[in-house]
Amino acid sequence: MRESIIIIALFATILGCKKENPEGWIDEERILIETARDWLSLGGNYKQQHYSNLDQINSGNLEDLGFAWEYDARSTIGRIPRGLEATPFVVDGIMYTSGAWGFVYAINAKTGEEIWKYDPKVDASYNRRTCCDVVNRGVAVWKGKVYVGTLDGYMVCLNAKDGKVLWRKDTFTDRTLAYTITGPPQVAGDIVIIGNSGAEFGVRGYITAYDLDSGEQKWRFFIVPGDPKKGFEHKELEMASKTWDPNSNWEAGGGGTVWGQSAYDPKLNLLYVGTGNSSPYPIWLRSPSGGDNLFLSSILAINPDNGKLIWHYQTTPGEIWDYTSTQNIILADLEIQGEKRKVLMQAPKNGFFYILDRATGELLSAEKYTKVNWASHVDLKTGKPVKTGQGWYKDEPKLVNPSLPGGHSWNPMSYSPKTGLVYIPEIIYPWIYMVDESFEFKKLKWGTGILYDGTGPPYSEENRKYLLGQTDTVEMNKLKAWDPIKQQVAWEIVQPVTRGNGGVLSTAGNLVFQGINTGYLKIYEAATGELLKEIEVGTGIMAAPMSYEIDGEQYIAVMAGYGGNELIIGPVDKRAAIHKYQNYGRILAFKLGGGDTPLPPKVVISKIPEPIELELDEQMVEKGESLFFTYCVGCHLAGENTEYYSQYPNLAKVIPATHGIFKDIVLKGVFAPNGMASFADVLDENDVDAIQQYLVKQQTGLYKNQESQEKNQND
Ligand code: CA
Repeated sequence: MRESIIIIALFATILGCKKENPEGWIDEERILIETARDWLSLGGNYKQQHYSNLDQINSGNLEDLGFAWEYDARSTIGRIPRGLEATPFVVDGIMYTSGAWGFVYAINAKTGEEIWKYDPKVDASYNRRTCCDVVNRGVAVWKGKVYVGTLDGYMVCLNAKDGKVLWRKDTFTDRTLAYTITGPPQVAGDIVIIGNSGAEFGVRGYITAYDLDSGEQKWRFFIVPGDPKKGFEHKELEMASKTWDPNSNWEAGGGGTVWGQSAYDPKLNLLYVGTGNSSPYPIWLRSPSGGDNLFLSSILAINPDNGKLIWHYQTTPGEIWDYTSTQNIILADLEIQGEKRKVLMQAPKNGFFYILDRATGELLSAEKYTKVNWASHVDLKTGKPVKTGQGWYKDEPKLVNPSLPGGHSWNPMSYSPKTGLVYIPEIIYPWIYMVDESFEFKKLKWGTGILYDGTGPPYSEENRKYLLGQTDTVEMNKLKAWDPIKQQVAWEIVQPVTRGNGGVLSTAGNLVFQGINTGYLKIYEAATGELLKEIEVGTGIMAAPMSYEIDGEQYIAVMAGYGGNELIIGPVDKRAAIHKYQNYGRILAFKLGGGDTPLPPKVVISKIPEPIELELDEQMVEKGESLFFTYCVGCHLAGENTEYYSQYPNLAKVIPATHGIFKDIVLKGVFAPNGMASFADVLDENDVDAIQQYLVKQQTGLYKNQESQEKNQND
């Protein structure tokens, strides 16, 4: 029998019809290989380390590293450039990855040529439901199929060969709430799971598991309980509900959305999921009597066969700071106190670097990897952080480190088994937390229970008093090499910019690759942090680079495209690439012997057009300003030269013809094909008049300045 198989295989090889894997073929045997030349998960293989075993590109030949190809991955919904956050897969020479809204691209990874593209045809109005841009953090590829979660909530299974839809399932429990999907799916055993986003708008997080082939729903795990009076969907929620006030603000959802990079250990058959922050943030507005509020800000280990919780660890009990634990989870085998342990590692937003035994959930260590003032340490016996009081902003505003973007956000960190170091894109963003006493839950409306005006860097004059007595008040980004066993910094570099600290790749070539928002791909020596090379690409990079080999050549690739939370958080650092070059999404690949990277076209600043004549009423202008900052500012700015940091239309530059149809745009959605959906559900005609008055006032002021400047130049 055995001989005959070998003979058939020999014949097949001679005849040139050796059976090859179908496109996108990743199976358990393949993903367990730790020295693969392909990139078979978001993090490379099942350990999700964002590490490549390839060493052809190394410190000895970096001068030869250059541009290989690029792929235009700009969003085709509307004309607005969007952030790119995914790490691509490469399987047998084909790259699979996702872009804004949940577009999927299959690309020849040697040439950059498109093989197919999937358009999820998302209604542009979903734009309004996102906290942090219409991004997508990646696909899953498994046994010839590509899985993606679309912004509007569908789990879609595509044929890896041609991009045809094999099945598509609605994952939302309630379409009247501001659920979206921005996170990646994760394959575990026979199922694929997907979570969701939207905690800042008041939703209840959950993950849903689907059969890989049929798309049949297998189970659903809610991260937080609902109103106990209504019963529990699964028994874990009964346990979780004991950590909530029975009279919690259940309407506001509770939060706990899952939008980060999960992991799966096929040997232990455990799925690891990180959960998100609370809704609303202040616990006294959410669960008035307090409590840990499980399973917010937690790491869950779930049996994928039945959706049962095996163990859980909560990183931030009683979460009130937007401290998600959705940051990427890395699996590793570490020797800790002389004992080889199968661990998982995470650097969640709360500032502590966690190592857990991934079979049992036992906490092995938790030390501060960044500035932390809300807790002094984590008690290894109880597993809980010991709070200092500086984080408690109920009675008075408090400057807290880390804050909303976390000490580490979604941008993947990397672990090199070769150096033993974890490379963290660290964020220091001290923030004054101030409770919004007027908070009330309203469907589809942003509502976190805290105030945003002048509370973040650089802080308004009147809020600066809350910085007094605090030592760490300066915003900063770092690339930090962290020794997980010694629990200390091995090296760190301070980035030249803030708000743009990209994901990280480390390789066996003793290299660390990281893109930042200056539009440079930077390459460091993994052991020392010495900057070895930087390649100007002209596009801000947030995503993590990855690496693969085709025909004996090693490639480094990265999705470049600035947006996401980094852009929305506020006016961006002047040194960012978007102050020079037009920002649009592209995938860039590099190899030895490559050339210069083509730079995007320069930004063009247009003049302020003459404003329309409009009688302004001060009260209406004031009302308009408030509405503008509630509903419009998520996308639009109305000021000078906003082209540099936002390519959304600058509403201080609206031309008279557009002002003429202003109401139709805002209430009837006449620009919906461009991504500007109707706001008729939340704004009425008087509101729109008020917004228009505010904008005309802004425009008039800027126009006068422009005129006097021009006059001065001419004089
Ligand atoms: Ca959040």
